[in-house]
Amino acid sequence: MTKIRLHNSRTRRKEEFRPLEKKNVRMYVCGPTVYDRAHLGNARPVVVFDILFRLLREVFGADYVTYARNFTDIDDKINARSVATGRTISSITEETITWYLEDMRALSALNPNLMPRATLYVLQMIEMSKDLIEKGHAYVEQGHVLFDVNSCPDYGVLSGRALEDMIAGARVEIAPYKRNPLDFVLWKPSIDETPGWDSPWGFGRPGWHIECSAMVQEHFGENFDIHGGGNDLIFPHHENEIAQSKCANPGSTFAQFWIHNEMLQVEGKKMSKSLGNFFTVRDLLNDGTPGEVVRFVLLSTHYGKPMDWTQKKAREATLTLLKWHKMVKNASPALLDDEILQCVANDLNTPGALARMHELAKAGSVDLLLRAGQFLGLFSPNEHWWLPEEPDSEAKVKIEALLVSRNKAKVDGNFLKADLIRTQLKDAGVEVVDDAGGLSRAIFTDAFDPGKIK
Ligand code: AMP
Ligand code: ZN
Repeated sequence: MTKIRLHNSRTRRKEEFRPLEKKNVRMYVCGPTVYDRAHLGNARPVVVFDILFRLLREVFGADYVTYARNFTDIDDKINARSVATGRTISSITEETITWYLEDMRALSALNPNLMPRATLYVLQMIEMSKDLIEKGHAYVEQGHVLFDVNSCPDYGVLSGRALEDMIAGARVEIAPYKRNPLDFVLWKPSIDETPGWDSPWGFGRPGWHIECSAMVQEHFGENFDIHGGGNDLIFPHHENEIAQSKCANPGSTFAQFWIHNEMLQVEGKKMSKSLGNFFTVRDLLNDGTPGEVVRFVLLSTHYGKPMDWTQKKAREATLTLLKWHKMVKNASPALLDDEILQCVANDLNTPGALARMHELAKAGSVDLLLRAGQFLGLFSPNEHWWLPEEPDSEAKVKIEALLVSRNKAKVDGNFLKADLIRTQLKDAGVEVVDDAGGLSRAIFTDAFDPGKIK
């Protein structure tokens, strides 16, 4: 069996992954808060954990892997959006969930097996909060239920910080009803406009962290294999999930492996709604960037490194995929190339897997190339963005002539002219690719417009 190695944030080491039960591999990933379109940063964990899901299915068998990703559909931002627009909360969350699934499907992400919504687990959250109070890990104060971090000796174990540093460095809310500034809300009162549920502590709603702990417990029990999310969630969200779940189930370990993706950045800063430096996945798709190209670019950086989205990367990915699609058009998928599998099994080394695909393409191994791409979620049979319009013969003759004069210009050392011709063709939707011998060939993109060839 293929050995899987993953960087475990809990131990800060790369470790061999062995599931608790080989026939019941369980992975939970924190999903989106549903009040708006997903931005490209939100797509990064989706693609990263989709790759891990595909790897686990390949190694353990699709029937033996359960992937759960929640929808956070209780949140102050959703309430605020409802107040601002006059729309009901459920119409906002329903619409956003539909958008999210559409957009992630465009990136060829498989649907998780389970997509629990927080609103359907409020009873379990109330039960867990009651349990934590009974066990002396939570207290009630002014209609709030708060988790008592001092009751939890290894609080801070995931982020590896001392309590004092956490208080100093984090956005922890100081409030009169807290014994310790790090204590966090399990339950809080609701006023009229916000959604609420009856509870032993009055009409109210759950805090964010308890949502995930309750949904994990309901579906996976006390111990499971992998918990994932962006590394912006390590503190406080994941730290608090661990504290709640381990204190509710003494002796349990909760997740064996914690996997965190690094952030997608814009100009060196995390892409986020609060910074306003974001664009949505839908913006990109509507601008004509195929979902497959977005996926390719996301795969080209290791999940543990920060990455920048650039137009240049998208163009290069487009050219590569155009070339590969032509090559695999008549191929029939072979067995999965072992080197590709080994790359992905080695802490999801997707850049390595793409490099191997380049080698396979170069060697003309089209059957292996096809199967490798399918494994990585490329070459979806449902999309045909790469199919060129068949150029009419008049345009073809003109393009040939332009390529001939471009080649001649290069030989003559007239690079200005050569570049000019390249730009002219590019404006008409024709990419010029120079092969190793220096000869130019034309690739027709789907933006090809024969009317623009002069
Ligand atoms: P949110 O809806 O903000 O709770 O985020 C949903 C998921 O997207 C979480 O796993 C976050 O860690 C992740 N995420 C948010 N922003 C980024 C980003 N800029 N890069 C990568 N992942 C992100
Ligand atoms: Zn979570």
